[in-house]
Amino acid sequence: MKRQWIILCLLFSWYASDAQELKTENVILITFDGLRWQEVFSGADKKLLRSEKYCASPDEVAAQFWHRDPAVRRKRLMPFFWSTLATEGQLIGNRRLGNKMSLTTKYWISYSGYNEMLSGYPDPDVQHNRKVNNRNVTILEWANRQPLYSGKVAVVGSWDMFPYIINTERSGIYVNAGNVPATGSNLTVKEHLLNAQLAQMQLRWPAVRQDTLTFQYAMEYLKREHPRVLHLAFGGTDEYAHKGKYDAYLRIIYQSDAMIQELWEWLQSQEQYRNKTTLIIATDHGRGHLDRRSWKKHGRIWYPGSNHVWVAVIGPDTPPVGEVKVKARHYQYQIAGTIAYFLGLRFSPHQSPQSLSSW
Ligand SMILES: [Zn+2]
Repeated sequence: MKRQWIILCLLFSWYASDAQELKTENVILITFDGLRWQEVFSGADKKLLRSEKYCASPDEVAAQFWHRDPAVRRKRLMPFFWSTLATEGQLIGNRRLGNKMSLTTKYWISYSGYNEMLSGYPDPDVQHNRKVNNRNVTILEWANRQPLYSGKVAVVGSWDMFPYIINTERSGIYVNAGNVPATGSNLTVKEHLLNAQLAQMQLRWPAVRQDTLTFQYAMEYLKREHPRVLHLAFGGTDEYAHKGKYDAYLRIIYQSDAMIQELWEWLQSQEQYRNKTTLIIATDHGRGHLDRRSWKKHGRIWYPGSNHVWVAVIGPDTPPVGEVKVKARHYQYQIAGTIAYFLGLRFSPHQSPQSLSSW
């Protein structure tokens, strides 16, 4: 009970004071765009899986992802989550057990959800997904301004909105997101190959790069620059869900889980990262749960349930309680404070950029 309590406290705190001895030296945040807690904690949905409307070949999908027992089912969908994370980390947000995590912002869309997660402030003025620079200072920008992490913070993502959410103009953080190549004077051979591949391929979505490419760009960046704080942002889940392709939605979840496993194993093979890296995995928003159609979308008025989110954590300072089963409420904004805690930083959210000079 006490062990559980420790991490819950972290998620409850706005910022950490008097950090105890932490082993964490690096933090990697991984986000899935609009991945529902329902799939994370219960695996594939029976009705959606059997629907010819949402799956091209339901039998094939069922053979891969269906099982009567939700504990087996979720492991089929996310093997890394339900083996390594479930035994060595923590998973928060299974509402069936009364363990709830929600957005605080009233706008259940991506910019609002990422802003709340990263700046620790559910800004009422962020009500859109427009390409405008975020006025709020994210924990990434905050870290980048500290001598310990300066120049060691980066974002590699699929969605082309991240340069605005992170406000690269003001923060100066390296952000590689959308269908854009890696840039720099010291690119690896593989990055040149990825750039050539990206230039020649037919784009699946104009605003969202395929996650497999994003992942490989992130891995190359890790090997080349050894960042201490990295946000790896997947986007495919939301794209497939909006298109109503439940089979592709499940497959990209499965693929992403495997990519996270590959990343985790690589981290454990590296002197800089082994036993010194905390992984935080989260989502920007949930999806509707009202009827059989509403899983495709999200938003406050028409899609209740899309404010329901989840978070998973694994690292040397996280007690290995697995799936957290205590009745409790958590909020998206607590992720920023939790990242700050692991980095040993004090972080006060919703400071205006004008007050930066007084930090
Ligand atoms: Zn969406």
